[in-house]
Amino acid sequence: MTDRITTKELSRMIAGAATRIRTEHALLSELDSHCGDGDHGAAMLRTVEKLEKIFADNIPLEFKSCLEQAGWNVMEADGGASTALLGSFFLGMAEPLTDDTRILNCGELAASFEAGLRAVQQQTKAKAGDKTMMDALVPAIAAFAREAQAGRGMEEALAKAAEAAKAGAESTREMTASFGRARFLREKTRGYQDPGATSVALIFDGFHCGLLGKEGESEHA
Ligand code: ADP
Ligand code: MG
Repeated sequence: MTDRITTKELSRMIAGAATRIRTEHALLSELDSHCGDGDHGAAMLRTVEKLEKIFADNIPLEFKSCLEQAGWNVMEADGGASTALLGSFFLGMAEPLTDDTRILNCGELAASFEAGLRAVQQQTKAKAGDKTMMDALVPAIAAFAREAQAGRGMEEALAKAAEAAKAGAESTREMTASFGRARFLREKTRGYQDPGATSVALIFDGFHCGLLGKEGESEHA
């Protein structure tokens, strides 16, 4: 059971997320063609490319520096709504950490995820139920925190977070959009999963697979 991670494991988690996004980018754009302007797959490809550049080699040993670089780079990846929000998420994750933090236990990673979520919530009023990425992000982080609180290891907590994100993303299919570009299409978005929520589900599934060292061998999404 992994109960602590360094930025090396975070790097594997990011690589796992990148693999999942690369495999599914066409689906993400297709969903965005029904719920927005069709560019979400391309935006996410640029996002994971930026992330991989930071995390590939010479990765800093300090989490704060890694997460801040990730946040700024993701924000610059694309002019879209999702990259601004995901960038805020990584920047927010860095906030509760001290400059020299090199190891995180499950509870500390949960606190970092929760700070990331709060940063996103400062950028959008969307809540779970509004057919946005929040439908995957909110339950994923709640599940991770619940598992951490119960004393479970990273793998199990990430598995539960990935499951919750997937269920959350699937629940958006029957929702009507009221935020982002999709709000102009409202009823027309019914029947399609929200693209951003789908990406968040892929990211958490990738985090889990990456930590397990089973990149691209998803059990969930
Ligand atoms: P854009 O809408 O700028 O083209 P993307 O296509 O990359 O950006 O991302 C669209 C996704 O971003 C949506 O599916 C939704 O999950 C998320 N999103 C957009 N606007 C908001 C918002 N105001 N609050 C929360 N999430 C949002
Ligand atoms: Mg779009």
